[in-house]
This record gives sequence, structure tokens and C-alpha cells, in this order.
Amino acid sequence: MSHRTLPPGSTIGMLGDGQLGRMTALAAARLGYKVHVYAPDAEGSPCAQVSAAVTSARWDDLDALEAFARSVDVVTLEWENVPVAVVEHLGRFAPVHPGGNVLSVAQDRVAEKSFVNNLGIATAPWRAANSAEEVAKAVAEVGPRCILKSTRLGYDGKGQARIEPGIDPAEAWAAIRSDAGIVEGFVTFACEVSVIVARGLDGAMAAYPAVENRHKNGILDKTLAPARVSGETAAQAERVARRIAEALDLVGVLAVEMFVTPDGAVLVNEMAPRPHNSGHWTMDACHSDQFEQLVRAVCGLPLGSVERVADAEMENLIGDDVLRWPELLAEPGARLHLYGKAEARPGRKMGHVTRLLPRG
Ligand code: AMP
Repeated sequence: MSHRTLPPGSTIGMLGDGQLGRMTALAAARLGYKVHVYAPDAEGSPCAQVSAAVTSARWDDLDALEAFARSVDVVTLEWENVPVAVVEHLGRFAPVHPGGNVLSVAQDRVAEKSFVNNLGIATAPWRAANSAEEVAKAVAEVGPRCILKSTRLGYDGKGQARIEPGIDPAEAWAAIRSDAGIVEGFVTFACEVSVIVARGLDGAMAAYPAVENRHKNGILDKTLAPARVSGETAAQAERVARRIAEALDLVGVLAVEMFVTPDGAVLVNEMAPRPHNSGHWTMDACHSDQFEQLVRAVCGLPLGSVERVADAEMENLIGDDVLRWPELLAEPGARLHLYGKAEARPGRKMGHVTRLLPRG
């Protein structure tokens, strides 16, 4: 496949203005690229603080979108819920990676699970359910212990309700406040892992090793890199991520979150076509980190090496955890990353710290 390489000095348009955009902009700057961020209320955001240009405008402002797209050489994103219509509009004026085909799968849990299952890749058993009656029927089919999730716009465990014997499915339906749901069988997992794979314009891929993710209150708390799983399970997780990236014809970075069952099987939970919290450790422990890979992929550069120089443990700083910054700064070897967010609200990702460990 022939493609155009965007040389250093080019401008990358970034949809979304959070910490993932910020860390991508920092990686872009290191390679001599500029970032122009677009988001509603982008002014002063974590990404805007380190970007060359900022457009603060609504997702439905077609003129602002056009002017933005015309001012950049390529568009990428740090938030997979950018409306597909926005990406399609932008695509008339600049290349957009990943494209609307990827977003339409990743934005909807039913589309996502159907896509994955159609590739022959396993997930928890699931049923779409769009009313209290359909939830009750799905529970009868999937099993008495399950999770009802809204199909769209859920993250960090939001828009989810557990269902078990004694819990009325109608209450769960009311609790998720959504008009479209998915009932998933509850997986008794040994651990949760994720694999981040980068895929270039030429179809080349590079995958980081599977890492282990531990959650607290539905939010990622710690990532252990690499995952403490068998070589076979790690290889299977990597194969799954590569297969999905290829089938999506993805250009960019894809994170695939998976459950590992007690017998070592891998079930896909969800995916995100962008850098991911479970890949932050790569900034400190790998030759090329996940943010640099995104820059390389969308600019048509060769992908970097995913080799790790150390094992690592990444800890998120959520809400008031960030107040520990003085002690973390004083800790030898602790690599502190703060996102420039003014207000430490509960549940808000304020930063992270990575500790390197001898390579196992
Ligand atoms: P999600 O938003 O789908 O990533 O879900 C957030 C977290 O809830 C996951 O990381 C798991 O810890 C847990 N979870 C989600 N779905 C299931 C499931 N089907 N079975 C067991 N735990 C789940």
C-alpha cells in the first residue's frame, strides 16, 4: 500500500482534550510535530496546555470543524465517542485515523461484541436488551448472575448495574438510565488483562505485552507490566488484539481489555481505539511508548520498538491521591506524571506514577 508520510513540522489534529491527548501532544512535540486540539471547552484543558493551537467549539459546529480540519495535516482522537458524523465531516478535508468504521464498532457494546464474536473471538455470553422485559428475558438466557450495561457512553463502570438472584431486572434497567442495554454474563475471572496494539498506514503492527489491570470502584487502580499469566495466555491475548486491529483496518492504537478465566482462557470485555490508561507504563519502560506509536501510525512513519527495558507497575492518582505529589516526587525512581487538572474531584484521573522493576 502506498501512503503519504507527514514529515516532522506537520500538525496533528486531536479530537478530545484530556490527559490522553496531552500525552500524545507531548510525544508529538518530541518528534517535532505540532498538535491542534479540538473539543468543546478545550481552552485550558490538559491537552490545550501543551498544544500549539486550540479550537474550543461544539461537536456540531460544522464550520469550526471544517476550519480545524483545513488547518491540520491529519486528524486523530483521544476519545472514541466523538460522533461518527463529525469524523465523516472532517474526513472531507483531512485524513482521519482511526476512521468512522472503527468508531461505530467501538462506541456501541452490542456492535463491539458482535464484531468480536464474528471473528471467532470469545466474550462473556450476552444479549441486547432495550426494555425491562427484555432485560428479564436476557437474564433467563444468560444466567442469574450478570451485568446490565448501557450500550453507549459507559466508562469506568458508569451506566452499569449488577443483577443477581433477588435483584429485580426492572430496577437494574431503571438504574442504568439508558434506552439501549446489553446484559452480559458475570465472568468469575482470575485476572483482567489488556493488550495495546499499534497499526500503521501500511498495515504493520506492533503489540505491547499483555498487562494486568486491577480496578478499584470500577476505575483502573494499578497496571502490572507484564501480566502475571502463562506465556500461552499472554500470547493468546496478543493474538486477539492483533486480529481485531487488522479486522477493523485500524490506523492508530487499539487497546483491548480482556478477562482471563481460571483455566487461562481469554474473553474480550471491551476495546478502545486510542491510547489507554493501561499503556501509560510504556512511557517509562519501553523504547517507544503508546503515544509515540499513535503519532507514528497516523503520520505514516514506521512504528517504533515495543521492547521494554524494564518491568513496571503503574498506579493511577485518582481525586485526592494527587495530594501525595510531594512524597512521590521525593521517592527515588518513582516517575510522576501529572495531567494539569485544577480540581481534584472524586473519581477524576489526576495523574499516575510508574515504578520500574527489574525485567523478569
Ligand atoms: P467495563 O466498563 O465494561 O470495562 O467494566 C468495568 C469493570 O467491571 C471491568 O473492568 C470488570 O472489572 C467489571 N466487569 C465488567 N463486565 C464484567 C463481566 N461481564 N463480568 C465480570 N466483571 C465485569
